[in-house]
Amino acid sequence: MKVTIISALIVFCWCSLRIFALPDEINIGGIFDANSVVQKMAFKYAVDLVNRDRDTLTRSRLVAKIADVPVDDSFHASKKVCAFLKEGVAAIFGPQSENTANHIQSMCDTMRVPHIQTRWDYRLTRNEYSINLPHPPSLGKAYYDIIFKLQWRNFVILYDSVEGLVRLNQLSKKWTVTMRQLPEGDDYRPLLKDIRRFKTTHFVLDVAQDKVYEVLRQAAQIGLMRVYDNYFITSLDFNLINLEEFKDSGTNITGIQLVDPHKPELKKLIDDWVIGEQRAGWVLPLQMRRMTTEAALMYDAVTLFAKTLHDLREAVEIPRLHCESDNSWQHGNSIITDMKWYSWYAPSTDSGGGNVFTPNQLSYRKVDGITGFIKFNTEGFRSDFNLDILEMGQNAILQKVGTWTLTGKANFTRTWQQTEDAVELNLQNRTLIVTTAITPPYVMLKDDHEQRKGNDKFEGFCFDLIHEISLLRGFNYTFKKVEDDSYGSKNRETGEWDGIVRELLDHKADQSIVDLTITYEREEAVDFSMPFMNLGISIIYKKPQKKSPSLFSFMSPFSADVWIYMATAYLGVSVLLFILARMAPDEWDCPYPCIEEPEELENSFTLLNSMWFIIGTFLCQGADIAPKAVSTRIVASIWWFFTLIMISSYTANLAAFLTVERMDSPVESAEDLAKQTKIKYGCKMGGSTYSFFRDSSIPTYQRMWSAMSNARPTVFTKSNDAGVERVSKSDGQYAFLMESSSIEYVVERKCELTQVGGLLDSKSYGIALPPNSPYTGAISSAVLKLKESGKLYILKTQWWKKGKGNGNCQREEKGDAASAAELGLENVGGVFVVMVGGIALACLTACCEFMWKARKLATDEGVSFSEELCKELLFIINCSENSKPVRKKSSPANTDSSSIYGSSNYGYSDKK
Ligand code: GLU
Repeated sequence: MKVTIISALIVFCWCSLRIFALPDEINIGGIFDANSVVQKMAFKYAVDLVNRDRDTLTRSRLVAKIADVPVDDSFHASKKVCAFLKEGVAAIFGPQSENTANHIQSMCDTMRVPHIQTRWDYRLTRNEYSINLPHPPSLGKAYYDIIFKLQWRNFVILYDSVEGLVRLNQLSKKWTVTMRQLPEGDDYRPLLKDIRRFKTTHFVLDVAQDKVYEVLRQAAQIGLMRVYDNYFITSLDFNLINLEEFKDSGTNITGIQLVDPHKPELKKLIDDWVIGEQRAGWVLPLQMRRMTTEAALMYDAVTLFAKTLHDLREAVEIPRLHCESDNSWQHGNSIITDMKWYSWYAPSTDSGGGNVFTPNQLSYRKVDGITGFIKFNTEGFRSDFNLDILEMGQNAILQKVGTWTLTGKANFTRTWQQTEDAVELNLQNRTLIVTTAITPPYVMLKDDHEQRKGNDKFEGFCFDLIHEISLLRGFNYTFKKVEDDSYGSKNRETGEWDGIVRELLDHKADQSIVDLTITYEREEAVDFSMPFMNLGISIIYKKPQKKSPSLFSFMSPFSADVWIYMATAYLGVSVLLFILARMAPDEWDCPYPCIEEPEELENSFTLLNSMWFIIGTFLCQGADIAPKAVSTRIVASIWWFFTLIMISSYTANLAAFLTVERMDSPVESAEDLAKQTKIKYGCKMGGSTYSFFRDSSIPTYQRMWSAMSNARPTVFTKSNDAGVERVSKSDGQYAFLMESSSIEYVVERKCELTQVGGLLDSKSYGIALPPNSPYTGAISSAVLKLKESGKLYILKTQWWKKGKGNGNCQREEKGDAASAAELGLENVGGVFVVMVGGIALACLTACCEFMWKARKLATDEGVSFSEELCKELLFIINCSENSKPVRKKSSPANTDSSSIYGSSNYGYSDKK
């Protein structure tokens, strides 16, 4: 019990000490100039609120000492500060102007009195007795993160004071930035006109909040507030800028805010001000009912100061100080240090006092002000804070699109769909300028266009396509013809674009539609929508004329080579048959079958007979002689096989030749063109086809490019129409390289022309828009929608097949090229091989038969084999003999040379 009472007494004494550690009334001084009326009010009402809220300062009251000083009048301000110090103040707040603030700060440093500022301070280090909110380098980081996320890489920074350069430092280090300082006075037009030269569409405005509106207004006057322009406004009071005037500009205006004006605490606070001032008999003007960031910071600074005083761990008295003397306040240091550390650590309950914290005694405390949570770094800078990222939306209403935090960087919370919806809203009822060129059937002038006005002059596939897209996206459009009739090519020397691309780059048009090919080079300069048509380069040429069949067209099924090979085969096989027949004993027969023992034998395969037999069988007629020996029969069979295949092939190919009318074209492909010099060829000057050949690394196309570029007179034309005209009139002496979709249109109407060969490349047409156009996504999705719904296909059919001038050309049924082509040696070569193989076999057989017979005769007649062989060979070589005597088998007694020939009819008689 005793212990409890003693403990209670100790706690009571400690609490009493704490409570009575602060004076009953604590003076705080506020110095304000004429530009800081709202800050002054915030200061006043913050003190009021602290005094009303008994939790913040339990026993003491704050007394606000306010001094009004002229702007930038340091002398006056220092006098006021001295007066405050004489009365005894715990802190000095303000002023806002830089020169005066620096002066006051050094006075406070000397007197060791806390000095609290809420103005932009560009210095990177702080005096000991001063804190500030928020920290410029952190703001610079916020700008950097946001611009990085917005993907700006090239922009102009407009700033009004050198202070800004500290914050903008990071931006200029990283990207291509043009920096310009706003001139004195309020005419910024000359500067803005100068900036217009850079053709940039991205601007960072780092100017005082009260100048932003004027800068934007003058930018709008000189045409720098278009849908393509983007502004990032660094002022933390973005929400206080009146953007009403720019709501229809379509310009993208992004900004940041530290104080959310929709916060309920803030609304309540402003209501308090209004009522408080009403009680004092003053109706608060409208512009003062909106909380500026600096006012909110002032409010938070006073609250934080009061909280720090409350949690102070030492008894404090506030002395009266004299500027002339060198005395100072001993507690100033503790207060400022505690204030810096306030948000990081809860105060120690250890009454040991001092500012020595150990980590286990301390814990993080979240201090929420109306400017968000408050946290200082060790140097007294508020480096960690959160920002809202805002964007001007429909009817100039600001929309929160993301947040920035020191650790999380810029985080845009808008979804892709929300962005697209915003763009679509922006597009509604806007009138877009559509630049085009007259190229049938994409865009054409109506026959009576002279009597018509505006869009009514035009018609065509692309015109209808834009109309469909405009219905989907709700915009209006005005068609106009490109001034120089060019689609857009880049000058190699100057790097400048011409034609449609130039107009888009200069923002003279909002989109362009025609047969404009999406190329890498153009894509780098401007934006393209999704492609609406796919195609490739091809050749348009005069249709080949029908060839009247030649007298010798029956020769066509085989090439000349095959005919020559066949003739050679015929002669060779005939001679071979003749020789083999002479060698084959079975081919030697008695011409008179009634003579049983003939004196001589005959061979029916004389040279002429052999040739007759071979030709007869070749023509499927047969002959009156037939081979009897195995070797000659093999030759005959192989020849018949050869004949069978050759005749069948001939017949089959002849049928194709006779039924298909042959159309002979000297050009079948780009290679054919490249190989020859007789037929000239060209393309549209400065178009994507022209660039394709100029930049190609493929040898064939390089050869074609050098032929085209060296040709005199020029083979390039001003338009596709001119090229087609030249092909029509050139009688086969000119071919035009053109895109397949256009060729398709032309050949439907000019029946004498045709597409030759396949596609040399593959590419697409797209709708071109200025670089970074906000409408690219909306237009692309509309093109996709039309593609998927089949509308594009319907439009194409309508303009290609049914459109004006369709000649309903009779489609030529192209014969099967394979069947109509001559049969080459490669087609029938195998037949020759089989024939040669068979012949070789026949020769082998004949040799065997011959030798076998010679050996037999040699044995029968008792002569040597070689002698007999020579005799037989001599007989064969002697081609004049077509009969030979029968050789009788000699008896052992009969050794007379006259009786050496055997009795069988296998011998022969020598008529000699
Ligand atoms: N479509 C082409 C272009 O966009 C024009 C025609 C061509 O070059 O064949 O440049």
